[in-house]
Amino acid sequence: MKYVGAHVSASGGVFNAPLNAKAIGAKAFALFTKNQRQWKAKPLDEETITLFKKNLELAQILPKHVLPHDSYLINLGHPEEEKRIKSLDAFIDELERCDQLGLDRLNYHPGSHLNKISTEACLERISNSMNEAIQKTKNVKLVIENTAGQGSNLGFKFEHLAYLIENSIDKERVGVCIDTCHMFTAGYDIRSREAYDQTWAEFDKIVGFEYLMGMHINDSKPDLGSHVDRHDSLGKGKIGLDAFRFIMNDERMDDIPLILETIDDSIWAEEIKLLYSFVE
Ligand SMILES: [Zn+2]
Ligand SMILES: [Zn+2]
Repeated sequence: MKYVGAHVSASGGVFNAPLNAKAIGAKAFALFTKNQRQWKAKPLDEETITLFKKNLELAQILPKHVLPHDSYLINLGHPEEEKRIKSLDAFIDELERCDQLGLDRLNYHPGSHLNKISTEACLERISNSMNEAIQKTKNVKLVIENTAGQGSNLGFKFEHLAYLIENSIDKERVGVCIDTCHMFTAGYDIRSREAYDQTWAEFDKIVGFEYLMGMHINDSKPDLGSHVDRHDSLGKGKIGLDAFRFIMNDERMDDIPLILETIDDSIWAEEIKLLYSFVE
């Protein structure tokens, strides 16, 4: 069974997100649990938490089908220690917010070396940050998203994800989210049956499907291997619809949140319907 949704608005309060998801026929959703462009947020109060849980039930969406996304400001691999710590503190706060809301996973981009340190040194810093976060929190899985590799962002190779899992002090607390646009622009083709099978076989060998905790379902404006992160609506970009048809019929993507981050939110309801129409 597939659980498709979109990254919906939480404006006015996190408790609005499940209702926004329900309104577009989603069975899953992503949200920011705080303003994603600010470091600080006021703590979640009891009333907000209770209402969020109530609305989740109303929308008939299970906590495991919700994939919160962390703030864009956080860089767990920041080359400057002071700034890495600031990021780590904010990250821990986000993990705690997810736990308070009864959610079991948090999606984040691994980090950037900012052209100041090597890839290896940056991955080591990210790994250390993750382990500190695991020690200081409970219940919530750290779900690393693959990236397009734009600028100095790491996580564009399956090997980067594998390294972070491998060096984790608790593998039960880590997972990955694969974004189809990022995967494609990072150089992994999924457009034909053959390419799709080969890419996912490589993923399984290097990372492993047991770590797949969610996906971002996006078409891509830029071409294969361009390392540019620009999403497009399904079927409008360079990936094309076949890849999404394969995903909807691939049981390895059952029971995890499949989240649209496509550019036109006015057609999300249609895109969700389109995806479900692919199921054979
Ligand atoms: Zn994404
Ligand atoms: Zn993206």
